[in-house]
Amino acid sequence: MQSDTTSPLAIHGGTPLRDLEKNPWPAWPIHDETERAGLLDVLESGDWWYGERVKQFEKSFAALQDAAHCVTATSGTTAGELCVEAAGIGPGDEVIIPPYSFIATATAVMRTGATPAFVDIDDSWNLNPALIEEAITERTKAIMPVHFGGRVADMDAINAIAAARGLRVIEDACHSWGSKWKGKGTGTLGDCGFFSFQASKNMTAGEGGAIVTDDAELAERCRSLSNSGRVEGAEWYYHYHVATNARLTEFAAALLNAQLTRLPEQNTTRAKNAAILNSALSEIEGISIQAGDDRITARTYHIYCLRMDPDAFGCSRDQLVKALNAEGLPISPGYPHPLYKQPIFREPLGGQDYAKATCPVCEDLCYRSALWFRHTILLGTEDDMAQIAAMFAKVKEHVARLALT
Ligand SMILES: *Cc1c(COP(=O)(O)O)cnc(C)c1O
Repeated sequence: MQSDTTSPLAIHGGTPLRDLEKNPWPAWPIHDETERAGLLDVLESGDWWYGERVKQFEKSFAALQDAAHCVTATSGTTAGELCVEAAGIGPGDEVIIPPYSFIATATAVMRTGATPAFVDIDDSWNLNPALIEEAITERTKAIMPVHFGGRVADMDAINAIAAARGLRVIEDACHSWGSKWKGKGTGTLGDCGFFSFQASKNMTAGEGGAIVTDDAELAERCRSLSNSGRVEGAEWYYHYHVATNARLTEFAAALLNAQLTRLPEQNTTRAKNAAILNSALSEIEGISIQAGDDRITARTYHIYCLRMDPDAFGCSRDQLVKALNAEGLPISPGYPHPLYKQPIFREPLGGQDYAKATCPVCEDLCYRSALWFRHTILLGTEDDMAQIAAMFAKVKEHVARLALT
Protein backbone atom coordinates (compact mmCIF):
# COMPACT_ATOMS: atom_id res chain seq x y z
CA MET A 1 0.00 0.00 0.00
CA GLN A 2 1.33 3.38 -1.01
CA SER A 3 0.91 6.02 1.65
CA ASP A 4 3.30 8.74 0.52
CA THR A 5 1.42 11.89 1.41
CA THR A 6 4.08 14.27 0.06
CA SER A 7 3.83 13.20 -3.62
CA PRO A 8 1.53 15.42 -5.72
CA LEU A 9 -2.24 15.05 -5.41
CA ALA A 10 -3.87 12.82 -8.03
CA ILE A 11 -6.07 15.77 -8.98
CA HIS A 12 -2.82 17.65 -9.85
CA GLY A 13 -1.53 14.76 -11.97
CA GLY A 14 0.07 12.67 -9.21
CA THR A 15 -0.48 8.96 -8.58
CA PRO A 16 -3.72 8.17 -6.72
CA LEU A 17 -3.21 6.52 -3.32
CA ARG A 18 -5.65 3.82 -4.39
CA ASP A 19 -5.76 2.26 -7.82
CA LEU A 20 -9.45 1.45 -8.11
CA GLU A 21 -8.92 -0.92 -11.03
CA LYS A 22 -6.47 -3.13 -9.19
CA ASN A 23 -7.96 -2.54 -5.78
CA PRO A 24 -11.70 -1.81 -5.90
CA TRP A 25 -13.75 -1.15 -2.76
CA PRO A 26 -16.00 -4.00 -1.55
CA ALA A 27 -18.93 -4.51 -3.94
CA TRP A 28 -22.56 -4.52 -2.80
CA PRO A 29 -24.76 -6.47 -2.37
CA ILE A 30 -22.83 -9.40 -0.94
CA HIS A 31 -24.33 -12.84 -1.53
CA ASP A 32 -23.34 -16.48 -1.68
CA GLU A 33 -24.80 -19.98 -1.77
CA THR A 34 -27.26 -19.05 1.01
CA GLU A 35 -29.13 -16.54 -1.19
CA ARG A 36 -28.86 -18.80 -4.24
CA ALA A 37 -30.25 -21.84 -2.40
CA GLY A 38 -33.00 -19.75 -0.80
CA LEU A 39 -34.15 -18.32 -4.12
CA LEU A 40 -34.10 -21.68 -5.90
CA ASP A 41 -36.01 -23.23 -3.02
CA VAL A 42 -38.80 -20.64 -3.41
CA LEU A 43 -38.77 -20.99 -7.19
CA GLU A 44 -39.14 -24.74 -7.19
CA SER A 45 -41.57 -24.94 -4.28
CA GLY A 46 -44.11 -22.91 -6.24
CA ASP A 47 -44.88 -21.05 -2.97
CA TRP A 48 -43.99 -17.59 -4.21
CA TRP A 49 -46.66 -15.71 -2.28
CA TYR A 50 -46.45 -14.41 1.31
CA GLY A 51 -45.88 -17.47 3.47
CA GLU A 52 -43.56 -19.29 5.81
CA ARG A 53 -40.35 -17.55 4.72
CA VAL A 54 -41.84 -14.10 5.25
CA LYS A 55 -43.14 -15.17 8.66
CA GLN A 56 -39.73 -16.57 9.57
CA PHE A 57 -38.07 -13.33 8.51
CA GLU A 58 -40.54 -11.24 10.52
CA LYS A 59 -39.73 -13.33 13.60
CA SER A 60 -35.97 -13.01 13.09
CA PHE A 61 -36.09 -9.29 12.34
CA ALA A 62 -38.29 -8.62 15.40
CA ALA A 63 -35.70 -10.51 17.48
CA LEU A 64 -32.85 -8.45 15.98
CA GLN A 65 -34.54 -5.20 17.03
CA ASP A 66 -35.89 -6.57 20.37
CA ALA A 67 -39.43 -5.99 19.11
CA ALA A 68 -42.58 -7.88 20.01
CA HIS A 69 -43.93 -7.55 16.46
CA CYS A 70 -42.68 -7.15 12.91
CA VAL A 71 -44.80 -6.47 9.82
CA THR A 72 -42.95 -6.54 6.51
CA ALA A 73 -43.73 -4.24 3.58
CA THR A 74 -42.65 -3.71 -0.01
CA SER A 75 -40.31 -0.80 0.80
CA GLY A 76 -39.16 1.51 3.56
CA THR A 77 -41.36 4.17 1.96
CA THR A 78 -44.55 2.09 2.22
CA ALA A 79 -43.57 0.89 5.71
CA GLY A 80 -43.30 4.53 6.79
CA GLU A 81 -46.67 5.41 5.27
CA LEU A 82 -48.27 2.45 7.05
CA CYS A 83 -46.77 3.53 10.40
CA VAL A 84 -48.12 7.08 10.10
CA GLU A 85 -51.54 5.91 8.97
CA ALA A 86 -51.74 3.19 11.65
CA ALA A 87 -50.88 5.79 14.30
CA GLY A 88 -54.11 7.57 13.34
CA ILE A 89 -52.41 10.59 11.76
CA GLY A 90 -54.17 12.31 8.88
CA PRO A 91 -55.37 15.60 7.37
CA GLY A 92 -54.90 18.61 9.64
CA ASP A 93 -52.24 16.89 11.76
CA GLU A 94 -48.56 17.82 11.95
CA VAL A 95 -45.54 15.58 12.45
CA ILE A 96 -42.13 16.90 13.49
CA ILE A 97 -39.30 15.61 11.31
CA PRO A 98 -35.66 16.53 10.65
CA PRO A 99 -34.86 18.19 7.29
CA TYR A 100 -31.70 16.12 6.87
CA SER A 101 -33.08 12.85 5.48
CA PHE A 102 -34.33 11.01 2.42
CA ILE A 103 -37.60 12.33 0.97
CA ALA A 104 -39.58 9.31 2.24
CA THR A 105 -39.42 10.66 5.81
CA ALA A 106 -41.49 13.65 4.69
CA THR A 107 -43.76 11.88 2.21
CA ALA A 108 -44.68 9.19 4.76
CA VAL A 109 -46.34 12.04 6.66
CA MET A 110 -47.78 13.81 3.61
CA ARG A 111 -49.33 10.79 1.92
CA THR A 112 -51.79 10.54 4.84
CA GLY A 113 -52.76 14.19 4.31
CA ALA A 114 -50.74 15.36 7.33
CA THR A 115 -48.08 18.08 7.28
CA PRO A 116 -44.41 17.82 8.20
CA ALA A 117 -42.91 20.46 10.50
CA PHE A 118 -39.13 20.72 10.25
CA VAL A 119 -36.87 20.92 13.30
CA ASP A 120 -33.13 21.38 12.88
CA ILE A 121 -30.50 18.79 13.69
CA ASP A 122 -27.35 19.07 15.83
CA ASP A 123 -23.84 17.58 15.71
CA SER A 124 -25.39 14.10 16.03
CA TRP A 125 -26.90 14.80 12.57
CA ASN A 126 -30.26 13.96 14.19
CA LEU A 127 -33.18 16.00 15.55
CA ASN A 128 -32.03 18.56 18.13
CA PRO A 129 -34.37 17.84 21.08
CA ALA A 130 -33.84 21.37 22.47
CA LEU A 131 -35.68 22.78 19.41
CA ILE A 132 -38.68 20.43 19.41
CA GLU A 133 -40.87 22.20 22.02
CA GLU A 134 -41.04 25.46 20.07
CA ALA A 135 -42.21 23.60 16.95
CA ILE A 136 -45.14 21.92 18.71
CA THR A 137 -48.58 23.36 17.86
CA GLU A 138 -52.10 22.25 18.73
CA ARG A 139 -52.00 20.23 15.48
CA THR A 140 -48.82 18.28 16.33
CA LYS A 141 -49.53 14.55 16.65
CA ALA A 142 -46.12 12.89 16.44
CA ILE A 143 -42.34 13.22 16.32
CA MET A 144 -40.48 11.24 13.68
CA PRO A 145 -36.74 11.10 14.43
CA VAL A 146 -34.34 9.66 11.83
CA HIS A 147 -31.37 7.67 13.15
CA PHE A 148 -29.05 9.18 10.59
CA GLY A 149 -26.42 6.84 9.22
CA GLY A 150 -27.31 4.39 12.02
CA ARG A 151 -26.56 6.87 14.80
CA VAL A 152 -29.51 6.64 17.21
CA ALA A 153 -31.22 9.98 17.96
CA ASP A 154 -31.51 11.12 21.61
CA MET A 155 -34.54 8.95 22.32
CA ASP A 156 -34.65 9.75 26.05
CA ALA A 157 -35.13 13.46 25.32
CA ILE A 158 -37.53 12.85 22.41
CA ASN A 159 -39.66 10.37 24.37
CA ALA A 160 -39.79 12.72 27.38
CA ILE A 161 -41.16 15.55 25.22
CA ALA A 162 -43.61 13.19 23.51
CA ALA A 163 -44.86 11.83 26.85
CA ALA A 164 -45.30 15.33 28.30
CA ARG A 165 -47.20 16.56 25.22
CA GLY A 166 -49.16 13.40 24.40
CA LEU A 167 -47.42 12.80 21.06
CA ARG A 168 -46.65 9.61 19.18
CA VAL A 169 -43.04 8.73 18.33
CA ILE A 170 -42.45 7.01 14.99
CA GLU A 171 -38.81 6.19 14.23
CA ASP A 172 -37.48 6.38 10.69
CA ALA A 173 -35.07 3.54 11.38
CA CYS A 174 -34.18 3.07 7.69
CA HIS A 175 -30.42 3.38 8.41
CA SER A 176 -30.28 1.36 11.62
CA TRP A 177 -30.59 -2.43 11.27
CA GLY A 178 -29.12 -3.61 14.59
CA SER A 179 -28.65 -0.22 16.28
CA LYS A 180 -29.50 -0.13 19.98
CA TRP A 181 -30.19 2.55 22.58
CA LYS A 182 -29.58 1.45 26.18
CA GLY A 183 -29.73 -2.17 25.07
CA LYS A 184 -32.94 -1.94 23.04
CA GLY A 185 -33.26 -2.00 19.27
CA THR A 186 -34.31 0.97 17.17
CA GLY A 187 -37.92 0.92 16.03
CA THR A 188 -39.03 -0.15 19.53
CA LEU A 189 -37.87 3.02 21.28
CA GLY A 190 -41.01 4.99 20.43
CA ASP A 191 -44.42 3.68 19.33
CA CYS A 192 -43.16 2.01 16.16
CA GLY A 193 -40.39 2.29 13.59
CA PHE A 194 -39.74 1.44 9.97
CA PHE A 195 -36.82 -0.05 8.05
CA SER A 196 -35.76 -0.32 4.41
CA PHE A 197 -34.22 -3.23 2.52
CA GLN A 198 -33.68 -1.30 -0.72
CA ALA A 199 -30.60 -2.20 -2.77
CA SER A 200 -28.24 0.34 -1.18
CA LYS A 201 -29.13 -0.64 2.39
CA ASN A 202 -27.09 -2.78 4.80
CA MET A 203 -29.34 -5.77 4.24
CA THR A 204 -31.30 -5.96 1.03
CA ALA A 205 -33.70 -7.83 -1.20
CA GLY A 206 -33.45 -5.15 -3.91
CA GLU A 207 -36.59 -3.61 -2.40
CA GLY A 208 -38.39 -4.33 0.85
CA GLY A 209 -39.32 -2.81 4.17
CA ALA A 210 -40.44 -3.62 7.69
CA ILE A 211 -42.23 -2.11 10.67
CA VAL A 212 -41.38 -3.11 14.22
CA THR A 213 -43.32 -2.27 17.37
CA ASP A 214 -44.07 -3.52 20.87
CA ASP A 215 -47.66 -2.29 20.52
CA ALA A 216 -49.90 -5.22 19.52
CA GLU A 217 -52.73 -2.96 18.40
CA LEU A 218 -50.46 -0.87 16.13
CA ALA A 219 -48.96 -4.07 14.70
CA GLU A 220 -52.40 -5.43 13.93
CA ARG A 221 -53.40 -2.19 12.22
CA CYS A 222 -50.18 -2.12 10.17
CA ARG A 223 -50.78 -5.74 9.18
CA SER A 224 -54.31 -5.03 8.05
CA LEU A 225 -53.32 -1.85 6.19
CA SER A 226 -50.58 -3.78 4.38
CA ASN A 227 -52.85 -6.71 3.58
CA SER A 228 -55.85 -5.32 1.70
CA GLY A 229 -57.66 -4.42 4.93
CA ARG A 230 -58.04 -8.03 6.03
CA VAL A 231 -58.14 -8.78 9.75
CA GLU A 232 -56.92 -11.86 11.57
CA GLY A 233 -59.48 -14.64 11.71
CA ALA A 234 -62.03 -13.02 9.37
CA GLU A 235 -63.32 -14.39 6.05
CA TRP A 236 -60.95 -13.97 3.08
CA TYR A 237 -63.05 -11.52 1.06
CA TYR A 238 -63.97 -9.26 3.99
CA HIS A 239 -62.02 -6.00 4.16
CA TYR A 240 -62.13 -3.76 7.22
CA HIS A 241 -59.81 -0.87 6.28
CA VAL A 242 -59.22 1.20 3.14
CA ALA A 243 -55.84 -0.41 2.78
CA THR A 244 -53.14 -1.25 0.30
CA ASN A 245 -51.19 -4.35 -0.66
CA ALA A 246 -47.63 -4.05 0.65
CA ARG A 247 -46.96 -7.75 1.16
CA LEU A 248 -43.44 -9.07 0.68
CA THR A 249 -42.87 -12.04 -1.63
CA GLU A 250 -41.26 -15.30 -0.57
CA PHE A 251 -38.37 -14.49 -2.94
CA ALA A 252 -37.65 -11.29 -1.03
CA ALA A 253 -37.94 -13.13 2.29
CA ALA A 254 -35.51 -15.82 1.12
CA LEU A 255 -32.96 -13.09 0.31
CA LEU A 256 -33.56 -11.26 3.59
CA ASN A 257 -33.28 -14.44 5.68
CA ALA A 258 -29.91 -15.03 4.01
CA GLN A 259 -28.76 -11.41 4.38
CA LEU A 260 -29.67 -11.49 8.07
CA THR A 261 -27.19 -14.32 8.71
CA ARG A 262 -24.37 -11.97 7.61
CA LEU A 263 -25.55 -8.69 9.15
CA PRO A 264 -24.16 -9.00 12.72
CA GLU A 265 -20.64 -9.79 11.54
CA GLN A 266 -20.77 -7.03 8.91
CA ASN A 267 -22.02 -4.58 11.54
CA THR A 268 -19.07 -5.49 13.76
CA THR A 269 -16.61 -4.94 10.91
CA ARG A 270 -18.16 -1.58 10.02
CA ALA A 271 -18.11 -0.39 13.65
CA LYS A 272 -14.49 -1.47 14.12
CA ASN A 273 -13.40 0.31 10.94
CA ALA A 274 -15.45 3.41 11.77
CA ALA A 275 -13.68 3.58 15.15
CA ILE A 276 -10.30 3.50 13.37
CA LEU A 277 -11.40 6.33 11.07
CA ASN A 278 -12.93 8.32 13.92
CA SER A 279 -9.68 8.37 15.84
CA ALA A 280 -7.52 9.11 12.79
CA LEU A 281 -9.72 11.73 11.12
CA SER A 282 -10.72 13.66 14.24
CA GLU A 283 -7.01 14.54 14.56
CA ILE A 284 -7.14 16.53 11.32
CA GLU A 285 -7.76 20.23 11.76
CA GLY A 286 -11.04 21.25 10.13
CA ILE A 287 -12.59 17.73 10.13
CA SER A 288 -15.12 16.59 12.73
CA ILE A 289 -16.82 13.25 13.17
CA GLN A 290 -20.50 12.58 13.89
CA ALA A 291 -21.01 13.06 17.66
CA GLY A 292 -21.57 9.80 19.54
CA ASP A 293 -23.52 9.05 22.73
CA ASP A 294 -22.70 6.50 25.46
CA ARG A 295 -26.35 5.46 25.59
CA ILE A 296 -25.96 3.95 22.10
CA THR A 297 -25.06 0.37 23.00
CA ALA A 298 -24.87 -0.85 19.40
CA ARG A 299 -23.94 1.62 16.67
CA THR A 300 -24.40 0.47 13.10
CA TYR A 301 -23.21 2.37 10.05
CA HIS A 302 -25.22 2.89 6.89
CA ILE A 303 -23.33 6.07 6.10
CA TYR A 304 -19.98 7.25 7.45
CA CYS A 305 -20.41 10.99 8.07
CA LEU A 306 -17.85 13.74 8.41
CA ARG A 307 -18.18 17.47 8.66
CA MET A 308 -15.51 19.87 7.44
CA ASP A 309 -14.93 23.46 8.37
CA PRO A 310 -13.66 24.81 5.02
CA ASP A 311 -11.89 27.75 6.70
CA ALA A 312 -10.06 25.56 9.19
CA PHE A 313 -9.30 22.82 6.66
CA GLY A 314 -8.07 25.30 4.07
CA CYS A 315 -10.18 24.58 0.96
CA SER A 316 -13.84 24.32 -0.04
CA ARG A 317 -15.82 21.11 0.37
CA ASP A 318 -16.09 20.80 -3.37
CA GLN A 319 -12.30 20.93 -3.71
CA LEU A 320 -11.85 18.35 -0.94
CA VAL A 321 -14.44 15.97 -2.44
CA LYS A 322 -12.86 16.18 -5.90
CA ALA A 323 -9.36 15.67 -4.52
CA LEU A 324 -10.43 12.64 -2.44
CA ASN A 325 -12.34 11.17 -5.39
CA ALA A 326 -9.16 11.48 -7.47
CA GLU A 327 -7.17 9.68 -4.74
CA GLY A 328 -9.67 6.79 -5.02
CA LEU A 329 -12.20 7.51 -2.27
CA PRO A 330 -15.85 7.66 -3.45
CA ILE A 331 -16.90 10.31 -0.96
CA SER A 332 -19.77 12.70 -1.69
CA PRO A 333 -21.23 15.93 -0.32
CA GLY A 334 -24.47 14.05 0.52
CA TYR A 335 -27.95 15.58 0.28
CA PRO A 336 -27.90 18.72 -1.89
CA HIS A 337 -30.64 20.52 0.07
CA PRO A 338 -32.67 20.39 3.29
CA LEU A 339 -35.93 18.54 2.56
CA TYR A 340 -37.93 21.78 2.85
CA LYS A 341 -36.18 23.10 -0.29
CA GLN A 342 -37.54 20.23 -2.41
CA PRO A 343 -40.03 21.15 -5.17
CA ILE A 344 -42.90 19.50 -3.23
CA PHE A 345 -42.55 22.20 -0.55
CA ARG A 346 -42.83 25.24 -2.85
CA GLU A 347 -46.40 25.94 -1.70
CA PRO A 348 -47.44 26.30 1.97
CA LEU A 349 -49.19 23.27 3.39
CA GLY A 350 -51.48 23.17 6.42
CA GLY A 351 -50.06 25.71 8.86
CA GLN A 352 -46.53 25.44 7.41
CA ASP A 353 -44.91 27.92 5.04
CA TYR A 354 -41.76 26.14 3.96
CA ALA A 355 -40.33 29.18 2.19
CA LYS A 356 -39.78 30.54 5.71
CA ALA A 357 -38.16 27.38 7.09
CA THR A 358 -34.58 27.83 8.26
CA CYS A 359 -32.53 25.08 9.84
CA PRO A 360 -28.99 26.51 9.95
CA VAL A 361 -27.17 23.31 10.95
CA CYS A 362 -28.87 21.32 8.20
CA GLU A 363 -28.19 24.09 5.67
CA ASP A 364 -24.55 24.23 6.66
CA LEU A 365 -24.25 20.43 6.18
CA CYS A 366 -25.97 20.53 2.79
CA TYR A 367 -24.33 23.63 1.36
CA ARG A 368 -20.92 23.72 2.96
CA SER A 369 -19.71 21.02 5.29
CA ALA A 370 -21.09 17.46 4.96
CA LEU A 371 -19.05 14.58 3.56
CA TRP A 372 -20.25 10.94 3.36
CA PHE A 373 -19.41 7.58 2.07
CA ARG A 374 -21.36 4.33 2.03
CA HIS A 375 -21.25 1.44 4.49
CA THR A 376 -19.63 -0.83 1.89
CA ILE A 377 -16.31 1.01 2.30
CA LEU A 378 -16.40 0.17 6.02
CA LEU A 379 -16.36 -3.50 5.01
CA GLY A 380 -12.74 -3.01 3.87
CA THR A 381 -9.61 -3.96 5.77
CA GLU A 382 -7.74 -2.08 8.49
CA ASP A 383 -5.18 -1.17 5.81
CA ASP A 384 -8.01 0.32 3.76
CA MET A 385 -8.91 2.54 6.71
CA ALA A 386 -5.28 3.61 7.11
CA GLN A 387 -5.31 4.44 3.40
CA ILE A 388 -8.42 6.62 3.81
CA ALA A 389 -6.69 8.47 6.66
CA ALA A 390 -3.64 8.89 4.40
CA MET A 391 -5.84 10.35 1.65
CA PHE A 392 -7.10 13.05 4.02
CA ALA A 393 -3.55 13.69 5.26
CA LYS A 394 -2.29 13.94 1.69
CA VAL A 395 -4.96 16.44 0.70
CA LYS A 396 -4.26 18.45 3.85
CA GLU A 397 -0.55 18.48 2.97
CA HIS A 398 -1.33 20.09 -0.40
CA VAL A 399 -4.33 22.13 0.65
CA ALA A 400 -2.80 25.51 -0.18
CA ARG A 401 -2.36 24.59 -3.84
CA LEU A 402 -5.72 22.82 -3.93
CA ALA A 403 -7.48 25.95 -2.67
CA LEU A 404 -6.16 27.86 -5.71
CA THR A 405 -7.67 25.43 -8.26
C1 LIG B 1 -33.95 4.42 2.24
C2 LIG B 1 -34.69 5.33 3.14
C3 LIG B 1 -36.10 5.36 3.22
C4 LIG B 1 -37.01 4.66 2.25
O1 LIG B 1 -36.73 3.39 1.96
P1 LIG B 1 -37.07 2.74 0.53
O2 LIG B 1 -37.01 1.28 0.87
O3 LIG B 1 -36.02 3.17 -0.42
O4 LIG B 1 -38.43 3.15 0.14
C5 LIG B 1 -36.69 6.14 4.20
N1 LIG B 1 -35.96 6.90 5.03
C6 LIG B 1 -34.62 6.94 4.96
C7 LIG B 1 -33.87 7.80 5.92
C8 LIG B 1 -33.95 6.18 4.00
O5 LIG B 1 -32.62 6.27 3.89
